[in-house]
Amino acid sequence: MGGILFVVSAPSGAGKSTLGAELLKTDPNLVYSVSLTTRSPRRGESHGKDYFFVAEDEFLKRRKKGDLIESALVHGFWYGTPQDQLEKLLREGRDVLLDIDVQGGRQIKKLFPSAVLIFIAPPSITELEHRLRTRSQDDEAAIQKRLDNARNEIAQAGDYEYLILNRDIGESVQKLRSIVWAERSKMDPEVLKGV
Ligand code: 5GP
Repeated sequence: MGGILFVVSAPSGAGKSTLGAELLKTDPNLVYSVSLTTRSPRRGESHGKDYFFVAEDEFLKRRKKGDLIESALVHGFWYGTPQDQLEKLLREGRDVLLDIDVQGGRQIKKLFPSAVLIFIAPPSITELEHRLRTRSQDDEAAIQKRLDNARNEIAQAGDYEYLILNRDIGESVQKLRSIVWAERSKMDPEVLKGV
């Protein structure tokens, strides 16, 4: 019996990283899958914890070798999920949280039909723009690119199984936690036999 794979996608600035971090803090059976990326670290991010920050040639080499279970170009940079880490955790029965974009979510759903897809959306694009500007981590061109990407992701997220409109972090964390527990509580006749 393997662990459950939770895929959380959201336009950047929708609050997904904060939500994911809050959930992980209080759920010891949930493990975060650290992706590879070719973008540079932002302030406060560290290698191996937030991402494995790699050069493009290394990323493409690992992708070609088949080390990545899925990969996508997002805002002009490569992102990908390392396969060995993910499969090992699931085999060990750990539930895994993937924070990836909707293209990645689709690829994962094809490979793992039982993966649970959760989309986190900002209350509105105007609110998202406000959040991106106040966190001031990106220049104007990057903000415009992220807004375009957000509209795109929202348009593509209709096939996700759960939607959380992130108006309030506390409430959204509760919703995310409820989804995780609902999925863990699904009927399993094998488990029931042992009761
Ligand atoms: P950021 O640069 O803001 O951390 O992430 C940008 C986008 O890339 C986010 O939507 C994030 O979910 C996505 N992302 C992060 N890691 C991966 C990955 O391994 N695969 C895919 N497909 N997307 C990823």
